[in-house]
Amino acid sequence: MKGVLVIHCGAGTWRGVDEETIKKVIVDTLRRGIDVLVGGGTALDAVVEATMSLEDSGVLNAGLGSVPDLRGNVWMDAGVMDGWSGRAGAAAAVTYPKNPVLLARKILELTDHIMLAGSAADELAIKLGLPKHPGPSERVKKRYEEVLKKASSGDAVFKKSFELAQKLGYFDTVGAVALDNEGKLAAAVSTGGVILKFPGRVGDSAIPGAGFYANKYGAAVATGIGETIMMSMLSLRAVNLISEGYLADTAARLAIQYHTSLYGKDTAGLITLDYRGNAYGAYNTQAMPWGYAKTETREVVISGLKKP
Ligand code: ASP
Repeated sequence: MKGVLVIHCGAGTWRGVDEETIKKVIVDTLRRGIDVLVGGGTALDAVVEATMSLEDSGVLNAGLGSVPDLRGNVWMDAGVMDGWSGRAGAAAAVTYPKNPVLLARKILELTDHIMLAGSAADELAIKLGLPKHPGPSERVKKRYEEVLKKASSGDAVFKKSFELAQKLGYFDTVGAVALDNEGKLAAAVSTGGVILKFPGRVGDSAIPGAGFYANKYGAAVATGIGETIMMSMLSLRAVNLISEGYLADTAARLAIQYHTSLYGKDTAGLITLDYRGNAYGAYNTQAMPWGYAKTETREVVISGLKKP
């Protein structure tokens, strides 16, 4: 069996991001994740490794680069799903871990639950000795100041936050799906959420079926306005289509088409992978940088930098 790893860096406008930087992040991340599969690691190992690499890049909306909420603080969501066992783990509205995806995996492996949220989830991260998030970076603080300048105050900002996020292209959540040498699939996602969100807001990235999903036939990870993705159950929809016999590309296109018919353009994107190893990325935004690599060749393919 041949292993495949697919990653994305978020749907949005990508106007303000230097293309070379994003390409380098994709290449480095795919190499790191593919090495895991080549070394005999599972699909779950590979998606967690890849997502940690994206969280640590500091230039995407996850982990170190997470965007600020209305008060300038960072609250993150993350989820993982193992398609073979059908089990998921998720961490919602956490502030402590540098790599929320690692906490989501621990929740899957160490508890009977699927999701832990807020301070109790942070406590678990501390107990497990997971690395601590250093707090909003200078880059994130600068972004916060810039965005606040563009809006007036308080509730007015919140009401406009999707509009602002759409204009500014701040949907750079990260995610990964993988197929391992044994033909097992997994999905992982991590995000700082939508910029200027209400403190305590939880988005699609913590919700199995919405922000991520995997079974024995397919895996999908979504990005975009979480409130719309939670309502269309975008990842589940794409994986259901794969389970019914569609290839990953048709499933992704149909799922995004459906989502767009309900919530309009500039709302979402997703990556899909089927059990045969077909990978695809579809989005209704201007761009969604994504890429894949296979264990056979290790060659990295990058797409989605500009809307086709
Ligand atoms: N889906 C994420 C959320 O709503 C945002 C993103 O994709 O960047 O939390």
